[in-house]
Amino acid sequence: MRDPSPSAAIKPEVRGLTAYTLRHFEAEVKLDQNENPYELPTDLKRQVVDRVLRRPWGRYPEFVPTAVLKALSKFTGWTEEGILVGNGSNELIQASLNVTLGPGRCVVVPQPTFTLYRLMATTLQSEVKSILLDPENLTFDVDKLIEASRTADVVVICSPNNPTGGLLEHKALVMVLQNAAGLVLVDEAYHEFSGQTALSLLPEHRNLVVLRTFSKAMAMAGLRFGYMMAHPEIAREVYKSKLPYNVNVFTLAAVETVIENRSVVNRGIEALVRERDRVFAQLQKRDGVRVFPSTANFILIRTERPARELFDQLYSHGVLVRDVSAYPLLDRCLRISIGTPEENNRFLTALERILEKK
Ligand code: PMP
Repeated sequence: MRDPSPSAAIKPEVRGLTAYTLRHFEAEVKLDQNENPYELPTDLKRQVVDRVLRRPWGRYPEFVPTAVLKALSKFTGWTEEGILVGNGSNELIQASLNVTLGPGRCVVVPQPTFTLYRLMATTLQSEVKSILLDPENLTFDVDKLIEASRTADVVVICSPNNPTGGLLEHKALVMVLQNAAGLVLVDEAYHEFSGQTALSLLPEHRNLVVLRTFSKAMAMAGLRFGYMMAHPEIAREVYKSKLPYNVNVFTLAAVETVIENRSVVNRGIEALVRERDRVFAQLQKRDGVRVFPSTANFILIRTERPARELFDQLYSHGVLVRDVSAYPLLDRCLRISIGTPEENNRFLTALERILEKK
């Protein structure tokens, strides 16, 4: 007999999942979400508001957001026909997986990484094949990745990887692309901090999908915008799973304005990269702290203390970081986003005080 509870209607794979959630903490120094601490200048925000005031709010956005697609095409050098826009890159990750995964299909995901890929693939009742990073250095296991990619429908590579900060080398990515049976999704949420992108590989590799966001380097997490670049033939397929009018008129206006004023965000990116390298050097000097090299706007550390204990102690000093110790291989690890120099100093000082007290 059928289970009478309404939740029996939910797929068993979904019932077995833990939702993607984030507990809300108030803190003076917020270094837990890899956000950009440098707000866009108020005059730029005003330009966006003025743009939006000039158009009716009662009308839908354009069916195809031509102006933003043109701006992104100019900005990246990739053809407009191969670009899709989304309400955050999360939406485009989901749309890409929607059209590729399902029962009997398989996705390869290095672990530990951004948790959403596994969550979405499991919801779609697909098999998720995890390829562990090197347990010592937390670098990609390229040989295993290439081997697994030969039979997978999709490979998802986050590069720079969240939460470890490491890159998949260009050459290794080319090997994965050459050997993969299916699509290779490269999540470049943090690429601006790394100086590396898979963009140049797009013309030659029709199985490559590059995902980007305006939530990090572009300082627009609150407005929700991401874009995808792929061969037009692939973009046309992913498009079928994207909701109509998924990006609102306010966000579209902000994207155009920020692209036109790119130099403003470039200064922030340079400052964050400088700060990341400074924080890394400071942490390296500390006994009892293992710090992993990062090419993103965050740094992963491992200490001798339980992560929860250190998290709580930092929090009591007003510094909020991310406890990532429940991820595979990340026992006793915390992830710290790079903030302004003052915020980073608050973190470094708090850590020093805490670690000195045995
Ligand atoms: N990919 C990675 C690797 C991320 O870390 C994040 C944000 N935490 C996202 C995608 C989501 O970005 P968006 O805000 O564009 O949905």
